[in-house]
Amino acid sequence: MTHAESKHEGILFLVATPIGNLADISKRALETLTNADIIVCEDSRVTRKLFTHFGLHPKELWTYHEHNAAAMRPRIVDAVGTGKHVALVSDAGTPLISDPGYKLVRALQDAGLKVTSVPGANAALCALILSGLPCDQFFFGGFPPRKSGARQTFFGALKGVPGTLIFYESPRRLRACLQDLHAALGEREVAYAREITKYFETIERAPITLFLEREDLDNLKGELVLLVGPRLETTPDQEDIRSHLEKRMEDLSLKDAVKEVATQLGLSRQLVYSVALDLREERER
Ligand code: SAM
Repeated sequence: MTHAESKHEGILFLVATPIGNLADISKRALETLTNADIIVCEDSRVTRKLFTHFGLHPKELWTYHEHNAAAMRPRIVDAVGTGKHVALVSDAGTPLISDPGYKLVRALQDAGLKVTSVPGANAALCALILSGLPCDQFFFGGFPPRKSGARQTFFGALKGVPGTLIFYESPRRLRACLQDLHAALGEREVAYAREITKYFETIERAPITLFLEREDLDNLKGELVLLVGPRLETTPDQEDIRSHLEKRMEDLSLKDAVKEVATQLGLSRQLVYSVALDLREERER
């Protein structure tokens, strides 16, 4: 209990649980879960398993998920309003992050009630620090859409984000997702972090095109976070741009060749256009 947590005041605690390695639960999380009047979880079967492991016996276990959230929210607000200590957990990791709870937090705050956090594991942040990609600025995009068209539009809208992009994705969709990333953003360095904190934890980092050449990409199992490095800032190699353009200009118009090469190399069209004009001039001489 911190100085801000009174025994007599109702509080909603947002309690993080492990994302794989059960030893990652914090001492404060265990204390909070032991003392809570009500535990609110996503799936009671998952939470009961976790509680059995730690020898915890919830006084009351309520569920809160997308199908009952509207009905449960006022009940939880009432409970906190009458002085109860309520702990919200998700199936794994930090509640609210691609998990239910944000509207509940707002409802409590709007009712003038106290909400506090008991921080711990989160797959997105663990993956970011393991990825080898820049961590100074990042954008968390949650789960990308499942359909290719919508996914390309979704990635395209993130083209200008200056930091690393982080997504939750199923290994089954990884190849299709990387193909759409390439179509929308051109070449980028990407990484995936799989089974974080578990026995088969694996981190891989490579340019998208190299990943796409790998056959084992289709056989990955478990849970995965996909990360996309910021737009390549290296000084573009003029010879590289020229050789890409030479190939494309054989069967495309200058404009289309520029468009394609700029996307492929992750460079501005203006820059590629200036190289293309030089090339055309040389050819015409
Ligand atoms: N609230 C959770 C958190 O704090 O990370 C995320 C919940 S979201 C419904 C589940 C997704 O998180 C998975 O599909 C996967 O993308 C990612 N994830 C969760 N645990 C993971 C792990 N151990 N390794 C890699 N990714 C994980």
